[in-house]
Amino acid sequence: MTNCYGLTTPVHDSIGIAFDPFLGAANHSCEPNVAVIMSGRSASMRALRPIAKDEEITVSYIDDRNPYETRQAQLRERYRFTCSCRKCVSHDYYDQSGPNYSKPEPSTFTKLDHARSDHTAPQAAIKICTDILRSRLSLPKPPPITAEPYAGARTELIGRLLEIDDLLPALRHSAKRYFDIDPVRFPQPFEPRRVTNAWALLRVILRLNDQPESPLTQELFVEQAFDGVVIMWRLIGEVRRSVGRSHGPGEFSDLVQRLEAEVKASITAAGGARAVGYVEQDPEGFWERFKGWKDEVDY
Ligand SMILES: [Zn+2]
Repeated sequence: MTNCYGLTTPVHDSIGIAFDPFLGAANHSCEPNVAVIMSGRSASMRALRPIAKDEEITVSYIDDRNPYETRQAQLRERYRFTCSCRKCVSHDYYDQSGPNYSKPEPSTFTKLDHARSDHTAPQAAIKICTDILRSRLSLPKPPPITAEPYAGARTELIGRLLEIDDLLPALRHSAKRYFDIDPVRFPQPFEPRRVTNAWALLRVILRLNDQPESPLTQELFVEQAFDGVVIMWRLIGEVRRSVGRSHGPGEFSDLVQRLEAEVKASITAAGGARAVGYVEQDPEGFWERFKGWKDEVDY
């Protein structure tokens, strides 16, 4: 049997479906060793970790971060098979947090599916995701924020906040994902989702930077004398160093390099030849202050 793939942009926005007999031959695992990255008319498989000679190449057909029961149900419904990968055989109901934590109400997964639906308006989805995130704290032994459905709910929340241009909470939640969630869930810095999320955080800062008159930009960058360029430069350097491994050559990689050159030119134009070094040193500690922003959301 051969599979179709959801067709996406390099940063995982869905735009259709694709069929490729070679890619379609890869079997599923809930611990895949490659991710499929689309770029324009081409697609490539990127290793998520070192792969041994003769080791089978596997991809994940579903969101492999979901708990065991959700994964099995999705694979049965959509692909008509029962997965027996190592992760499933070890049968840990709640893979990412272990038995010492309370399990989420099963309905929270259904609610998240509803929030993700195109038929759900942004405001309604924001409320659902916020409720899911807060519900974690009312459990007797709250699982970590890196577990599902919480990490997924936060990602959906960020997307929906950006949809309605509510940039301050989008910024805080993206920063929380960047600092507290992704390094745990995706320990390899070149994991495509980790790189894409760092890129998303950078995009929020860029959007603020492009709206100098907005009250939020005034508050952050003028009243608090916060230097967004320090953050931008650091994030873009990080994405650029990983993109070759995470996404390979293609439109995303080109875009990252172009943006880095543009930001570098504007730093140099504003502060002279030594300005880039100054921004990198960050003597005023803007990066540490930026880290503090994520703690403004306590759920
Ligand atoms: Zn599995």
